[in-house]
Amino acid sequence: MKVIKFGGSSLASAQQLKKVLDIVKADAERRFVVVSAPGKRNAEDTKVTDALIRYYRSYTDDADVSADQNWIIDRYKSIIDELGLSHSILDKIAAAITELATLPIEGNDFLYDTFLAAGEDNNAKLIAAYFRQNGVPARYMHPGKAGIIVSSEPGNARILPGSYDKLEELCDSDEVLVIPGFFGVTVDNQICTFSRGGSDISGSIVAAGVKADLYENFTDVDGIFAAHPGVVHKPHSIKELTYREMRELAYAGFSVLHDEALIPAYRGRIPLVIKNTNNPNHPGTRIVLQHSHQETPVVGISGDDKFVSINISKYLMNREVGFGRKVLQILEELNIRWEHIPTGIDDMSIVLRERELTPIKEQEIMTQLTRNLGVDEVEIERDLSIIMIVGENMKNQVGVMSTATKAMSDKNINIEMISQGSSEVSVMFVIKSEQEKSAVRAIYKAFFEKDNLV
Ligand code: ASP
Repeated sequence: MKVIKFGGSSLASAQQLKKVLDIVKADAERRFVVVSAPGKRNAEDTKVTDALIRYYRSYTDDADVSADQNWIIDRYKSIIDELGLSHSILDKIAAAITELATLPIEGNDFLYDTFLAAGEDNNAKLIAAYFRQNGVPARYMHPGKAGIIVSSEPGNARILPGSYDKLEELCDSDEVLVIPGFFGVTVDNQICTFSRGGSDISGSIVAAGVKADLYENFTDVDGIFAAHPGVVHKPHSIKELTYREMRELAYAGFSVLHDEALIPAYRGRIPLVIKNTNNPNHPGTRIVLQHSHQETPVVGISGDDKFVSINISKYLMNREVGFGRKVLQILEELNIRWEHIPTGIDDMSIVLRERELTPIKEQEIMTQLTRNLGVDEVEIERDLSIIMIVGENMKNQVGVMSTATKAMSDKNINIEMISQGSSEVSVMFVIKSEQEKSAVRAIYKAFFEKDNLV
């Protein structure tokens, strides 16, 4: 039994929905279909979820909402018309969209989430009707009814553990269940969404709940590439990744799947595959608990920019008990998340994402470090990128680091910092952002290929 999730670009038009129908029909084990809202048809298009945000703003600003309502209803109408579906489904969707503008604004913490969730909710109704019309016995199922019960954290819901038992009961259904992604209901029956892109999380939750044999996540790419295709020319897609490798790559810029989506499937020990709706015969990327065979030492290379480093020096730092704690406490009190801490004997660098550091916080850190901790030198270094090379099998191989560093030195790239955890699942380099692309290309070439680069 498989849970299959389709992202917004797979559901953006009638033409895409036909591919979705073929995919579901092709395998009788595909019994649970989790769907996003219609996404963009082309680069200039607007996602239905973004149109719902616009609609919400007009409504709460007491402005005229008719243009926003019509845009959204027309979006569904064009799909319904092209698929030749009955207008009773359009009437239902139009009523649901219009009704949003009658909900109470004052004291309604879940109003925004209720607007946003309408994108997925109505799409699931449409898709279930389309499946039924084409011979697939399908039924729309609201997440609340399915058992996706979440915490009361608007825009950032978490699944409540009790949900899984209720979800398991869905296994008894003989119909294909079409479940809207992206939201659940609270114990008080309020609509509450996950963070943006959260339909991936819903799919993972349903897969864990029904104890699926496989969670298939359909997107618009042939799985996860070993490097960013905007940087490396036609990188290969990775056949198999472990959950840990996926997490490491996602951390530094690989954004095919929502970060939090891995957790339920991982805990439920459900294998996951990322596939392409536009090329369903491609095997895609499987994400597994353990590699099924000996992988190459490096599976992927990612790079991400907008990092800064707070570089601190203090003579005899290593002898001062509690120094590191005091530094981190300054950050904690300012509610700053840090990412890496490479150290020397008398110096430590704290690498963080640029967005964590406002000018006021920066000033406060400088003052406290010099005044209270008596550091000799402190500087904030900007325009940094991190490069991660990832692979569980690196630990069984000597020379991975030397291949990567040689590739960079051949391109005259200075490595500012290096960090590798004892798990050896990844190595991180900090370099200047202007050299990030060149570094990723050089490392990709060194590990994977001869002369196929842009
Ligand atoms: N439609 C939602 C978003 O755009 C959730 C999703 O597509 O996964 O964020």
